[in-house]
Amino acid sequence: WSKETIAVITGGNRGIGFEIARQLADHGVTVILTSRDASVGVESIKVLQEGGLNDVACHQLDILDTSSIDQFCDWLKENYGGLDILVNNAGVNFNFGNDNSVENAKLVIETNYYGTKRIIQAMIPLMKASSAGGRIVNVSSRLGRLNGRRNRLENDELREKLSNVDTISEELIDEMAETFLKQVEDGTWQSGGWPPTFTDYSVSKLAVNAYTRFLAKELSQRPDGEKIFINSYCPGWVKTALTGYAGSVSVEAGADSGVWLSLLPDQAITGKFFAERREINF
Ligand code: NDP
Repeated sequence: WSKETIAVITGGNRGIGFEIARQLADHGVTVILTSRDASVGVESIKVLQEGGLNDVACHQLDILDTSSIDQFCDWLKENYGGLDILVNNAGVNFNFGNDNSVENAKLVIETNYYGTKRIIQAMIPLMKASSAGGRIVNVSSRLGRLNGRRNRLENDELREKLSNVDTISEELIDEMAETFLKQVEDGTWQSGGWPPTFTDYSVSKLAVNAYTRFLAKELSQRPDGEKIFINSYCPGWVKTALTGYAGSVSVEAGADSGVWLSLLPDQAITGKFFAERREINF
């Protein structure tokens, strides 16, 4: 990896995303830190530059806004010719009380799942051809495991289909997200067999993990030299705004597996879920 390697981070202005940006820049790659608020991005890269990390740039990017995504793509292509690494870190959670409101559930699924998917689809055509292969890393959560002991999806048929690389599909994952949102709107989600804790957030991350597995299969069809590897990971319960700074893990430790996956030399690893640099069953 060198400064010719271009890494894009979504939601890079704070928390885990900012720390991933810092650690990647520290490894010598060129970091494009993106943020919803352009001026906050400028302040964020100033902090990195003051720390001696000079191969950093920033650009506005809201993963909910297609015109923002289009503008970012044009800028990236024109100034950097594309990218090598995409870290999908941007995400929201409102589950501090027991509030699965329709509005929050929609925003959580729309940001964490559809927003992530949207930026992945926009970035894939801009991934540079290289022998190392392109990298996509999704910052996800153990709450979105299919087979988690305490927080699992109770629908056996759906769990089975999402578990199997031959039956998983984008339509199936979208259908799961839409069914959940419809039940939240109808007020019937509580009997829907969804993960009991942080439900909308868990469903959004379950969708991200399933999409990672699905897309890895699709991307493996690309010819040699144009391969892209995609994995997701759980950073642990991290002290950031998202947890009200109540987590037990530092941002440095929370960012670690994301940076490790971004720079992994082993190209056999794709479509997997990790925590603390170890693969775990999703
Ligand atoms: P923060 O709330 O500190 O950071 C979230 C980041 O996402 C912010 O930069 C925020 O931007 C950005 N963001 C939110 N919505 C959008 C959007 N529509 N477009 C672009 N950026 C957006 O939280 P964390 O650092 O903790 O979270 C980072 C990721 O880690 C999330 O995906 C989260 O789900 C995941 N995660 C976190 C855990 C934890 O314990 N903290 C545990 C498991 C997973 P802005 O500043 O403008 O709001």
